[in-house]
Amino acid sequence: MRTSRYLLSTLKENPVEAAVVSHRLMLRAGLIRQIASGLYTWLPTGLRVLHKVEQVIREEMNRKGAIELSMPVVQPADLWRESGRYDKYGPELCRLKDRKQNEFVLGPTHEEVITAIGRSEIKSARQLPLNLYQIQTKFRDEIRPRFGVMRGREFIMKDAYSFHLDHDSLDKTYEDMYDAYSRIFTRLGLDFRPVEADTGAIGGNHSHEFQVLADAGEDTIAYSDGSDYAANIEMAETIETAERPAPGPDYSKAPTPGCHSVDDAAAALSITADQVLKSLIVRGERDAEGKYELIMCCLKGNQELNEVKAGKVPGMSNPLEFATDEEIAAFTGSHPGSLGPVGFKGRILVDKAAERMGNFACGANEDGYHLINVNWDRDIKDYEVCDLRNVEEGDLSPDGKGKLHLRKGIEVGQIFMLGKKYSEAMNAVVMDENGKSIPMEMGCYGIGVTRVVAAAIEQHHDERGIIWPDSMAPFEVSIIAIKPGRCPQVHAEAEKLYAELEASGIEVLYDDRDERPGVMFADAELIGVPHIITVGEKSLANGEIEYKNRRSGEKQNLKVSEIADFIKAKVAAAREHARTCADKH
Ligand code: ATP
Ligand code: MG
Repeated sequence: MRTSRYLLSTLKENPVEAAVVSHRLMLRAGLIRQIASGLYTWLPTGLRVLHKVEQVIREEMNRKGAIELSMPVVQPADLWRESGRYDKYGPELCRLKDRKQNEFVLGPTHEEVITAIGRSEIKSARQLPLNLYQIQTKFRDEIRPRFGVMRGREFIMKDAYSFHLDHDSLDKTYEDMYDAYSRIFTRLGLDFRPVEADTGAIGGNHSHEFQVLADAGEDTIAYSDGSDYAANIEMAETIETAERPAPGPDYSKAPTPGCHSVDDAAAALSITADQVLKSLIVRGERDAEGKYELIMCCLKGNQELNEVKAGKVPGMSNPLEFATDEEIAAFTGSHPGSLGPVGFKGRILVDKAAERMGNFACGANEDGYHLINVNWDRDIKDYEVCDLRNVEEGDLSPDGKGKLHLRKGIEVGQIFMLGKKYSEAMNAVVMDENGKSIPMEMGCYGIGVTRVVAAAIEQHHDERGIIWPDSMAPFEVSIIAIKPGRCPQVHAEAEKLYAELEASGIEVLYDDRDERPGVMFADAELIGVPHIITVGEKSLANGEIEYKNRRSGEKQNLKVSEIADFIKAKVAAAREHARTCADKH
């Protein structure tokens, strides 16, 4: 590719709207442009990277026997009614009507469509197991699109769906996909961790996420230093070891005027936050008429509520909804900041760590007052103990081996065992050997293809720009010709090398713009081309051409007669590594 005939679109200045490195570099390197919130054009360089990622994904999916198909983005609302998700899926689901007033949705995911395909196309148990995948655009009307393509509204996903006669077969494909994902992310040069995960809006009963470790990640993962345990913090169970102290004197009321937080109350009472009980009021599950009760969740003052774990407690709203200040005031007579379990008239859930507290302070359910020296059982009789808090750095690992540590992660993929959730709801059945019709077991497996590109940049960059893993680089080699207009020999050597490398199938970006050398070099480094060759008058006078390795920074001068073979060997080695590095994984 000649730069003069290409759309490079690099930017010199740092775009102000970009909060994370990958977004900044994707804009500066001319990979993407925003057209509206969460909607992006993939410019030519970006698209080349995207195609590389897709290629690795296709190879590894095909290796496991998955078969590619393509489903529509626009899906009939009735299919979503059949699965029961039309009403359940939140406002992320974009709903629309055609000119005949028929209702449709823009697919945020394709369980419904694939189940309809499975129902109509799989006629016999002999066709099972079957794993079908596509690489295709999704739309989710995210509440907060941000970080560029990391959380877009339109994005590309690889989604696969498998059908099985029994659970053992599903287990096997799940393992295969776990392995395929490990191979894909290894080949893409990512430092990642598979972690136990919540199943969220997709549903099902068993799931892993693949998390790329990076500070820009929106997820927190907990992993043990004494075992393989690793989980999204949403899932990580807590283990408590503290003993509850014996109750002391009776509780009494203390004034805490103007205190609206645990820290305010702790300061007013001259105690620490871990001696104050935090009481939050959430909504219970809605009944047929949409009514719900208010439920109090009690935690140690210095700990955080885990909304996913709390939402799974029977009778809770899920996703968890918080009560409004008005609802709380009407029910308790006080405002948030002065709430507590003593005398609370509703259901009380107490976190396992909070249950170990003794002689603690809590809100008095009266504005401006707290109670001190409160004790469970003695002062509060009716309560349920459950796991409500986030694990913290240094907590015991749930498998009893080692301590937990926390890291930020970018979720690049997730695999789910769906079981019969969709096949039962949508009647996707096959006949077993006894002629009995049974709903198929299903699994689903997603990769955020566009997000992978951003995640890779988070892990691979320096102050000059992107440093692509070999498998993702938009070009393998950059040739920079310095002032070819002034020096015919430079022009001739650069053209010759370009022709030779192109002829041997190497992807070359040939900068023939006759720009200032600094500009051309900065562009090559910004877009992260792994091998950079500079053809200049000075070194040509010595019969040499300069080579720089983008990743190592290593520079060397090579004989004009040797440069082509040198580059071909480098590229061949890089390709081989990108293809086979997962074999050792
Ligand atoms: P998240 O928790 O980040 O919202 P999710 O768990 O809802 O994602 P899945 O339904 O598991 O997403 O979708 C499969 C993959 O698609 C995710 O692992 C992620 O890599 C990608 N993905 C999901 N939402 C987005 C988005 N808004 N922008 C870009 N990629 C996304
Ligand atoms: Mg997910």
